Order: sequence, then C-alpha cells, then structure tokens
Amino acid sequence: MTTETALKSSPSHPALVGFESEIQGLQETGQYFFQRGWSVGTSSNYSVVVNRSPLQLLVTASGMDKGRLKANDFVRCNYDGNQVDASNMPTTDQPRSSAETGLHVVLARMEGVGAVLHTHSVWGTLISDTFADSGEVVIEGYEMLKGLAGIKTHQHAEHVPIFENTQDIPRLAEKVEKRLHDESLPPIHGFLIRNHGLYTWGEDLAEARRHIEIYEFLFEVLGRKLAAQGKLCPA
Ligand SMILES: [Zn+2]
Repeated sequence: MTTETALKSSPSHPALVGFESEIQGLQETGQYFFQRGWSVGTSSNYSVVVNRSPLQLLVTASGMDKGRLKANDFVRCNYDGNQVDASNMPTTDQPRSSAETGLHVVLARMEGVGAVLHTHSVWGTLISDTFADSGEVVIEGYEMLKGLAGIKTHQHAEHVPIFENTQDIPRLAEKVEKRLHDESLPPIHGFLIRNHGLYTWGEDLAEARRHIEIYEFLFEVLGRKLAAQGKLCPA
C-alpha cells in the first residue's frame, strides 16, 4: 500500500468508523513528524479526544510506523486507557494501544485538552539529558515562545519539567498528574522524559502540532547554542 492510499483509506473497525477526519489528521501528523525526524523507528504516539463524557480517545496502536499509519492503526480507549467500543463497553478485538497510553489518558482528562502528541527527537533527547539533574529546563527570551497557547511575550519563562525515564508507565503517569495539578508551580504546556522524548497537548490537533513545532524549534536552538559553548550533555 502506498502512503497516499493509506491516507485515503477509511477505517473498517467498528470502533473507529465515524472518525475518518480525526484519523486522517493523525496520519498526516505522523507523516510530517516522521519526515522531520521527530517520530522515526516506530517511536512516538499520538491521540485525539473523540468524546468528553464519558472520556474516549483514539490512541495510536503499539509499534506502528508513524510515517505510514494505516486507518486501522488506532485504538479507541476510555478514561482508564482500556479499549472500548462505541458504547463504551470493553473490547479485546482492537490492536494493543501504545505502551504509553496511561500518559495520554492523564493529559486528556484535563479540561480543554483535545489532542496529545509525543515525539522522540534528537534535540529533545539531548536537552532532556543535559538538564535532568535540575528536574526541568527553563526556556526564556525567545520570540517562538509566543506559539505556546496564551503566551503573549518573548519575555515569558517557560518551565519544562523533566521526568526520569521508566518502563513503569502507571508510576510515571502519577508523577505527571501530580505536577499538572500542583498550583504552587508554574503552569506548563509540555514535559520531557529523560533520554526519551517530549509530551505536549492542545485544545485540538492543530494546537498540539503547533506546540510540538515550537518546542522542537526551541530545543534545537538551545541545543545548538549549548553545543557551541561546550555545555551540551557535559560528562
Ligand atoms: Zn515514547
């Protein structure tokens, strides 16, 4: 199947029928992120909220090539990240959703979140390692910060938390959820997982894609600057 055919094909799985435009949006996102080098080697995962109450989202199936997502490479999940059908009843006949579905669910539960995107880029990986000991990277003074929702000036300081990488996704999801709702800390638009990648979200897929573009731009600028100064990933 050519990529063009894959993009045009409609889902045949009953849990996905009716979400043709959401699926096409995610397929296009995957092609674009793959071409940018942000989602290579089947890495990354994406989701869109398709129902708010009860919460349901379409999440990319585990292990798929993000540059060539097919129409059935998605899983309809509920509030807990378990696969469900159109009536919100448990199913077992869909593909396995991404191993990181628990993180998508925690983010999608937040009011106003319509899409969650995750990338594994070179610059995001390097920045996550460089600043891991501080637990966050603070990005300040760049015009591109204004691409993050609600940010009006380049003088803004954006805090990007960095979590240690783990295969224990429920535990990581708990830590992320705690940070998201900690009102003593600055609000965030995304976070990094050390030596792994970026998570960000938006009110819809377009906003989440813009946030990925903004962060990936900022990570590259910061990374190149630190590398020129010999400060990127110091031993
Ligand atoms: Zn990942």
